[in-house]
Amino acid sequence: MSAAPERKDFAATKQMKQVMAKHFGSFAEGPEQGKKTAWCTSVGPAELLRAMGFNVFFPENHGAMLGATRKAMELIPLANAEGFSPDICSYLTSDIGSYLKGETPLQRMGMPGVPKADVLVFNTNQCRDVKDWFQWYARHWNVPCLGVHTPRAVGEVDESLIQYVAAQTEALVEPLEEVVGTKLDIDKLRDIIRLSKECTELWKQVLETAATVPSPITFFDGTIQMGPAVVMRGTQDAVDFYKVLLAELEQRIADGVAAIEGERTRIYWEGMPIWGKLKDLSNQFLQLRICVVASTYCNSWIFDDLDPDNPFTGMARAYSEIFICRSDDRKEQYIEQMAEKFQIDGILYHDAKTCPNNSNCRYEMPQRMRRKLGKPFLTINGDLNDLRLYSDEQTRTNIEAFAEQLAEV
Ligand code: SF4
Repeated sequence: MSAAPERKDFAATKQMKQVMAKHFGSFAEGPEQGKKTAWCTSVGPAELLRAMGFNVFFPENHGAMLGATRKAMELIPLANAEGFSPDICSYLTSDIGSYLKGETPLQRMGMPGVPKADVLVFNTNQCRDVKDWFQWYARHWNVPCLGVHTPRAVGEVDESLIQYVAAQTEALVEPLEEVVGTKLDIDKLRDIIRLSKECTELWKQVLETAATVPSPITFFDGTIQMGPAVVMRGTQDAVDFYKVLLAELEQRIADGVAAIEGERTRIYWEGMPIWGKLKDLSNQFLQLRICVVASTYCNSWIFDDLDPDNPFTGMARAYSEIFICRSDDRKEQYIEQMAEKFQIDGILYHDAKTCPNNSNCRYEMPQRMRRKLGKPFLTINGDLNDLRLYSDEQTRTNIEAFAEQLAEV
């Protein structure tokens, strides 16, 4: 029997850590430089906030950090005691619990805590939880909470929807100008959108290298390398980083280097990551020589429709076309395309207990996709952050059985 493969890290990871440290360092220096801080949901109008001179903080990224460092379980009960149900988004409950306890992994990066917001800006394209989350802080700090309300379960993203969302985004400008004390420079917004689009195109190319057989990258690598695309889109640092990462991946392809030596099967990950179990799951798939080549999650930061020439309608289209706010028909079409492009052998669905918004296995989609694609699937029960909702043993056994099933196809 051949030796178990080893996980291969990327040389580019060092640069990724440096740019992320610089990004978080900017919050500590911000007030000294007279910079204000805006909180933004992951698919909120980050480009607009950056163009207006705000430091932009993404609390969902903080939530993921709390999950990955396995701090969430001791923090969630504090938010529950505050009145937030254990059944709602565990990013929200972890983050608010972290604030109440005064403990955060950001302290290891030299920050005293999460940066206090001067304004909070949400987009409901992903869920309602983000609005409730931001409103709690807005009440607590007595600062404005602004938002864009995007319809969900959308089939076709038509002109009327774009105009509706674009008008709401444009209406944010005046109250944001009041907070920041300067007028929006539209040319600056165009520049930021240009950088954001370049970042998103590079990130897409990075993920598409996984269409190569064998793949030079896994979903688990993607969850680490996506940091700059999530929190730094619209900056030159993010663009520079993805050029370096892409070059490394292209070199891997040229040299025939696989992320998983002896790749046997290729699967798609549908749903949220299980942040506190990424290492365990990555190791198990490595041992089974199964490469998770694509995911809805990592692809959620590809915004093809950003348009520097039409800043508001471009942002509206880009942020309304994302997978999470589309109808099941559209989601299935998307997964079908991904299955073909990445030559997948099966699909794993993660049913994340506290995120019904990004769990797509609850209304028969896996069965419909199996009929369409003729590929096996596995559903695992768990959560993004709350590991009390996850069973190591059951998941391990289910993945082993799935591997056997895949081997028979
Ligand atoms: S989409 Fe899910 S994980 Fe993300 S903020 Fe909403 S409920 Fe939380």
